[in-house]
Amino acid sequence: ARELLFQSEKIDLVSNMAASVAHEIRNPLTVTNGFLQLLRQSQTITKDEQKYIEFSLIELKRAEGIVSDFLAFSRPQCANMVYSNLQAETEYVKNIMTPYANMHKVQMQLSFRNNLTLQYDKNQIQQCFINLFKNAIEAMRETGGTLSVDVIEDVKAVIVKINDTGIGMGKEEIAQLGRPYYSTKKEGTGLGMMMVYSTISKLNGKIKVESEKGKGTTFIINIPAA
Ligand code: ADP
Ligand code: MG
Repeated sequence: ARELLFQSEKIDLVSNMAASVAHEIRNPLTVTNGFLQLLRQSQTITKDEQKYIEFSLIELKRAEGIVSDFLAFSRPQCANMVYSNLQAETEYVKNIMTPYANMHKVQMQLSFRNNLTLQYDKNQIQQCFINLFKNAIEAMRETGGTLSVDVIEDVKAVIVKINDTGIGMGKEEIAQLGRPYYSTKKEGTGLGMMMVYSTISKLNGKIKVESEKGKGTTFIINIPAA
């Protein structure tokens, strides 16, 4: 229990810093990226210099990935608090993830059977869904497939089921989910699921994972109504 406490204190600390740092870092990253793109087009640089620019661009992209996975990872903020049923957030995330889904031949299906209201931080829930949708799409990137999201109502809770037909996970992999920096991807940050677990636990919610290697994965998120 002591270790758990330390763990959650650590995550709180990280989340406070991340909120302010992420926004501030994004601008210089964008500017640097722009200048490197210009430099890359120069006619006078050598092959070696060209290579250094490519490496720099790859590393910048990595930094950008970390910032993206983290952007809304902060304490709930009053200005962002809403009472709602998650439909608007789910639809918003579907819209912004559509190009990424198309790129990987993934169909997205949403369904809603829910009238309960929750109180939550809009930005954090969106970020949480972005991370879950992104992982689902990436799990299907070799094959294409279907991402189904169902928002349904239980007696006093809202249940969100996020199902993909992707590569799936074994028991050991499921056990690692949410551990900072755990990633099986070449370009992964291993921060997305940590953000998801942290956000859902702030809402007193629970996450169940059902997965089978080669078949796909379902995340079942249960959030008690306000
Ligand atoms: P990242 O996506 O940067 O690797 P995450 O914290 O988002 O980091 O996810 C951690 C790991 O959990 C992923 O690298 C992947 O191995 C596994 N994972 C998460 N979601 C899924 C999924 N839907 N299907 C298969 N594996 C998943
Ligand atoms: Mg991820």
